Amino acid sequence: MAANSHIEWTDHTFNPWTGCTNISPGCDNCYAEAWSKRSGQVKWGKHPRKRTTDSYWKAPVIWNNKADFFEAAHGHRQRVFCASLADVFDNQADPMWRADLFATIRATPRLDWQLLTKRPQNIAKMLPDDWGTGYPNVWLGFTAEDQIRFNQRKRFIGAIPAAVWFISYEPAIGPIRITADDPVPHWVIVGGESGHHARPMKAEWVRNIIEDCRRMDIAPFFKQWGHYQNNPLVSECGLASDIAKERDALGKGGGELDGKVIREFPVTSQAKRRFAA
Ligand code: SF4
Repeated sequence: MAANSHIEWTDHTFNPWTGCTNISPGCDNCYAEAWSKRSGQVKWGKHPRKRTTDSYWKAPVIWNNKADFFEAAHGHRQRVFCASLADVFDNQADPMWRADLFATIRATPRLDWQLLTKRPQNIAKMLPDDWGTGYPNVWLGFTAEDQIRFNQRKRFIGAIPAAVWFISYEPAIGPIRITADDPVPHWVIVGGESGHHARPMKAEWVRNIIEDCRRMDIAPFFKQWGHYQNNPLVSECGLASDIAKERDALGKGGGELDGKVIREFPVTSQAKRRFAA
């Protein structure tokens, strides 16, 4: 079974509904909003969200049923990014839909669900009653596009129990440093913004956050520079973009840091059990 997502840090994407409202500077060039305008599937902002179809909702159970096959082929548990065209912890989404989502998550223990939000302040009140110390197959994460957003949202790391806590530092539009006084996530995804209106990302931001991850035993996943002007092969070494692309074609704008690919994942208790050497 092939993975169905082109996002480098996951295997599948699942959208229980579509539609959202921009709430943060990281939303300015929201891919999902552009998709909604192109497709006409849902109106963005204070309009009703749109639940996806019953047949679409069957997909996670099918992935779960094929877990042996997937794990034999790929060597890891399937990761499911939820949601790419919405926000799981959106106040405007129907609570019954979220309850159905958690029922699906409970019914698919062979999938690792990556719930990424820009509304971590809503997580605690929107988790199911049996959350306990966290479902073993759910990773909770929030986006932090710069230091201000990291500082606003970091208090939720660890305050809400979860098998994995992660930060999506994407689109990186300002520097972030994680210090010894901060709550420590298990995983940090780093990426520059892509597309016509992409904002710049500096190479030093990436080097610094990777250094912080190394110092604090956080798994880093550097996805991409966003566009080649951000890539240090261009910004520091002075190469033309097309030459830089020949040397570093990973992701959008290249995805190597000083000649290295840095794409790590947190080691979960689930993975340890199943893939122990
Ligand atoms: S929270 Fe995510 S999906 Fe919603 S508007 Fe912002 S970037 Fe788009």
